[in-house]
Amino acid sequence: MRYLILSDIHANWAALQAVKAHVRRKRFDRVVFLGDAVGYGASPNQVLEWIRSLGPALDAVRGNHDRVCSGLDSAEYFNRFARQAATWTLNHLEERNLEFLRSFPEGPFGLTDDVAICHGSSVDEDAYIFSAHDAQLAFAGLPHQLIFFGHTHVPSLFMLREDNGKQTLKVRLLSGRRIVLDLDPDRRYLINPGSVGQPRDRDPRAAYAILDTDQRRIYLYRVAYSASVARRRILNAGLPPVLGDRLLYGA
Ligand code: ZN
Repeated sequence: MRYLILSDIHANWAALQAVKAHVRRKRFDRVVFLGDAVGYGASPNQVLEWIRSLGPALDAVRGNHDRVCSGLDSAEYFNRFARQAATWTLNHLEERNLEFLRSFPEGPFGLTDDVAICHGSSVDEDAYIFSAHDAQLAFAGLPHQLIFFGHTHVPSLFMLREDNGKQTLKVRLLSGRRIVLDLDPDRRYLINPGSVGQPRDRDPRAAYAILDTDQRRIYLYRVAYSASVARRRILNAGLPPVLGDRLLYGA
């Protein structure tokens, strides 16, 4: 089985279109979405219509922005710009997309006996996994060998190995246009494929991954797209300009 893995699209239609074009010749059976379809960007309806069109081929968990932008939660913990974007999104979502957004389940969610997905962490959908300590808590929260997460917008990898009760944890940031990871059956993995629509690792290219469970291999890609088009849409929508500017730098 091959899974296309997408996270943190954030209503960036230009970035999602570039990813769709990039995967056109790659085979995948299912699409996995790790949350934050909307918020920040200016194309929430287009993004949600595409995700909705996947029908039963989709496995998804909700992100914190999905919750707030659909009115399921208040924006009190958001900064000023995120709050403005959430209000704008709620006011601009078409009814059927709003309903669809509200239907995203809370993570974590087990795809198979070996693979699970979550938005923030396996123990808390809103927690960030940046440090080895964060990763340890997330590994302890689920039995799966491979856990995909989003939320930080930084492509990253945590590998856990246990030898006679002694744990070794390795951390790696994943940068580059194409990375291939072969999964070792004696290790556990936490992997963030990066963000489609608002990368924050100083690389403005859209990020996504493909998991091949037969080959036991993960491919991570970065795809150039016109961030200036996404920025222009944000400015034209009257959203905070900083939300457009940051796309140019991947910040
Ligand atoms: Zn996000």
